[in-house]
Amino acid sequence: MSGARPRVMILGGGFAGLFAAQRLARAPVDVVVYDRTNHHLFQPLLYQVATAALAAPDVASPIRRVLRRQKNATVLLDEATRIDPGAREVHFKKSGRQPYDHLIVATGARHTYFGHDEWEQHAPGLKTLEDAFNVRYRIISAFEEAERLGGGPEAAPWLRFVVVGAGPTGVELAGAIAEIARKTLTRDFRRFSPGSAEVILVEGGPRVLPAMVERLSDDAVSQLQRLGVEVLLDTKVTAVDARGVDIDGERIDARTVLWAAGNQASPLGRDLGSTDRAGRVNVRPTLEANDHDNVYVCGDLAHFEQDGAPVPGVAPAALQMGRHAADNIRRQVAGEKKRPFRYLDKGTLATIGRKKAVGRVAGLNLTGTLAWLGWLFVHLIYLVGFRNRAVVVFEWAYSYVTYQRSARVVVDAGGGVVDPRAPVPKSTEGTAARETT
Ligand SMILES: Cc1cc2nc3c(=O)[nH]c(=O)nc-3n(C[C@H](O)[C@H](O)[C@H](O)COP(=O)(O)OP(=O)(O)OC[C@H]3O[C@@H](n4cnc5c(N)ncnc54)[C@H](O)[C@@H]3O)c2cc1C
Repeated sequence: MSGARPRVMILGGGFAGLFAAQRLARAPVDVVVYDRTNHHLFQPLLYQVATAALAAPDVASPIRRVLRRQKNATVLLDEATRIDPGAREVHFKKSGRQPYDHLIVATGARHTYFGHDEWEQHAPGLKTLEDAFNVRYRIISAFEEAERLGGGPEAAPWLRFVVVGAGPTGVELAGAIAEIARKTLTRDFRRFSPGSAEVILVEGGPRVLPAMVERLSDDAVSQLQRLGVEVLLDTKVTAVDARGVDIDGERIDARTVLWAAGNQASPLGRDLGSTDRAGRVNVRPTLEANDHDNVYVCGDLAHFEQDGAPVPGVAPAALQMGRHAADNIRRQVAGEKKRPFRYLDKGTLATIGRKKAVGRVAGLNLTGTLAWLGWLFVHLIYLVGFRNRAVVVFEWAYSYVTYQRSARVVVDAGGGVVDPRAPVPKSTEGTAARETT
């Protein structure tokens, strides 16, 4: 511990962790932020990296850079492996055991394959930059394969894209792939027509965007269909392999299957006592873990009940929780009483494609161009860093005018998730989809 100042340890530099750290800038504490990556990632725009509209640095900022002016904050690149609240210590992969006075755990969630982890290698999800590079590689290389095969029946499975899960990420991915096929690539291939690509969105429940009101879900389906996306509702995926998926027992031959269904909280939650079925830690009104004083849990890792329902796993909730936990720590240090958290829901928006979106803001249902403009505006406001905002505005304007996507370069570099479908040369066996920007 450093001198008499309490040490606030923050695990995770996502929305909750980063905004908690910033909120403590003027508090008489030493803050140390640990993250297993060196960057804060703006996940709401990750699908644009996956679909070649944006490059990685547009949606990610080094945490060290974001906090460079905050003198009481230290940033360390390491992965927490265990929390020992009894000893007030966290175990790290490289740094071993480290003590804390106050702990904020904000390590988020990952996608889950409902007990079928073996599906992940065939149907990557989208949570990290690595995931986005992998997805981008698969989408772009599928069109390349179709050209190499000269179109026709052999190429058909390469021109069939299946997206599993019709929450915001699935809807965004399906809409973007359809736009790539019908607008971006129209003149780029000689041996087949990219517009013939099939995009199939599979949802186990009765609606797309289930968190929205029914009218908006129906509207989203119409907008997806106008883009040429086939929407299958009440349809369960029963098997996934390198050649496609089985849905309700029927085979779909598709070389590109993307996973946007289900969330499982960070495994660190298990060290903090009672959790819900998704592994989220049950927290008290102060945001402390039910079973541990002075351990705050925020963002996607927290199960916080408000008005009889859990607060959703969205960026504004994570950001507000991070700030609130920081405020409660400041109060504790000042000898004041901690306060209960209340989530302020400013509305939800989901984009589908160019001038296509749905959302509910201030009690109003929005669809089409208005919702799309609202979505663009909100995402720019929350994006971290001025440079990122400027670049993203430029990229969006460029692609609006030209229909082009400027981040279409992919390379097959080492590490990450293996693409089991690609014919891999011996020297690069076990390599994966990566890009360099
Ligand atoms: C593709 C996608 C699209 C989304 N779109 C939207 C949207 O449009 N609108 C919206 O409001 N929300 C959206 N969300 C949800 C939103 O991004 C999350 O709710 C939010 O990021 C949660 O913030 P968090 O701080 O809890 O976790 P995260 O932002 O996930 O941050 C967790 C951090 O912890 C780090 N970490 C994890 N484990 C460890 C460990 N063991 N040791 C050290 N560090 C660790 C990670 O590297 C990461 O930096 C989307 C999410 C995804 C994946």
